[in-house]
Order: sequence, then structure tokens, then C-alpha cells
Amino acid sequence: MGEKVALITGSTRGIGKAIALELANMEYLIAINGASTNHLPKEYIDELERVYGRNYKKKFLYIQADISQKIDRKNLVERIKKEFKRLDLLINNAGISPPERRDILEASEESFEEVLKINLQGPYFLTRDIANWMINQKKELKNYNPYIINISSVSSFASSPNRGEYCISKAGISMMTKLYADRLAEFKIPVFEIQPGIIETDMTLPVKGKYDELINQGILPIKRWGFPDEVAKAVRAIVSGLLPYSTGDIIHIDGGFHLKRL
Ligand code: NAP
Repeated sequence: MGEKVALITGSTRGIGKAIALELANMEYLIAINGASTNHLPKEYIDELERVYGRNYKKKFLYIQADISQKIDRKNLVERIKKEFKRLDLLINNAGISPPERRDILEASEESFEEVLKINLQGPYFLTRDIANWMINQKKELKNYNPYIINISSVSSFASSPNRGEYCISKAGISMMTKLYADRLAEFKIPVFEIQPGIIETDMTLPVKGKYDELINQGILPIKRWGFPDEVAKAVRAIVSGLLPYSTGDIIHIDGGFHLKRL
């Protein structure tokens, strides 16, 4: 049997990078992706060498591709087909916050389109293409047990009226999880959703003070920030195969934020 291969979109930093390293530790070959840079920083490559050891250069690929662009998505998939010849795991992780937080009464169409294209339209059509490839691989490969995991957010259900487009994009990812879980069940391709809460990454850096204050005031039952490797561990838990009668489930990595409290 060939080595398993994972694609993690948006894995140059933050949560995606932690997932990439977790999967490297599980001996997956990994396709790392980002939009803004044409090569991985040296420290990242050093980390991969530490995990994989000898032959590490054959174990990963970096593919620059903007997932909001049809042509980039096509190239991304073609490159994995060419270099690794298979794909066992898709992690839809790439995402952005709105360039500017703005009251929905003042919402801008440009920001709405940009956020929805990257956070929802890109993953939706990437999933369509990869799901079809997975269905074909099911026919061709023995012991092939693929998964699709979507990284949504507590913003799928929690209202932040100063970044409506982000909330809508993440609510869309939650529906996308249900749709693909339903559609792909007959092919034995489970689809899961991980809903992170307040996780320490570049994305949350600009609002660190605000979240520190909210956490101090008790917004979270577990009174601390979450970390990218805690999201990555949820991926490990899912792909370890210990949830064989589940699909479409949401795993909350949010310190209990989703609980209704009295
Ligand atoms: P981050 O630190 O800002 O990293 C985002 C990653 O996505 C980077 O690798 C970035 O690469 C990539 N990316 C952005 N736009 C892209 C595009 N158009 N095409 C391909 N890659 C793209 O963000 P993060 O905090 O790790 O967030 C990762 C995911 O978790 C996002 O979907 C986010 O919404 C979700 N999330 C985060 C939190 C949190 O508290 N941090 C909470 C809930 C959910 P480039 O810079 O090279 O483009």
C-alpha cells in the first residue's frame, strides 16, 4: 500500500501548519498550501526534516495556490496527482478574516465577495473536485479510507455584527459539511467539521487585547486561549479511525464556548 497523502489548505502558518506537522508525525505525505508566498521559510523546512528524517524532501510538497481562484485550484489538484498520485485526506483550512471589521449596517460588497470567495466558494468547489477524485480512488486502491475535514469556527453560530461576511462564510462551511457528509456517505467517505474558538494565531493577533479581556470576564468555561496544536489533535483523533459510525459531526475545540450557560 502507498503512503497516505494529505492536502491542508492554508498551511503556511497557524492552525494549518500545526495540522500539517501533526499529519507529518503520523507519517502522511503532505501537500502544504498558501497563497501569498512562493516558498516555505527555512524554519518550516527544518521542522519537516526533524519530523521525517532522511528523505524528508520527498515527503512534502509546497504548492502556492489561491483557493479562491478556479485555475489555482485546478493546478493544486493536478500537482498532487502528478507528484503523489493519490490523496487520502483533504483539510479545508485556508481562510481570512475581513480586511476590516465593519458594522453590518455599513457592510461593503467588496469585502463580502472577497471573504466568501476564499472562505466558502473556494473550499466548496475544491471539495467537489477532490470528492470526485476520492470516489475514483475508492475503485482503484485497496485499503483506501479517505476523509474530508472542514475547519469552520464558532462564528458558524455566534453573531459578530462587525464581521457579518466572516460569520456567513463559516455558517456556509457548516452547511457544506452536512451536504458532503450526506452525499459521500454511500462512498464511505466521512466528512467532519472542526469548530475552533479563540485560537492564538496571526489571525487573532490584531484582536488579542479584546479577547484577553473577554476571557478574563468569563466568556469561556475553560478560561484560556486555545492553541493550533489543539485543533491539530482533533484531526488526529478523527483520522485515527475511531469514529467509524459517524459523519457530519462537529468537533468543538473552543474551551466550551458553544455551551449555553445560565
Ligand atoms: P492564519 O494564521 O491567518 O493563517 C491562514 C492561512 O491560510 C495561511 O497559511 C494563509 O497563507 C492561508 N490563506 C489565506 N488565504 C488563502 C487563499 N486565498 N488561498 C490559500 N491559502 C490562503 O489563520 P488561522 O488562525 O490559522 O486560521 C486557519 C483557519 O481556522 C481559518 O479558516 C480560520 O477562519 C479558522 N479559525 C481560526 C480561529 C482562530 O481563532 N485563529 C478560530 C476559528 C476558526 P498565505 O498567508 O500565504 O495566504
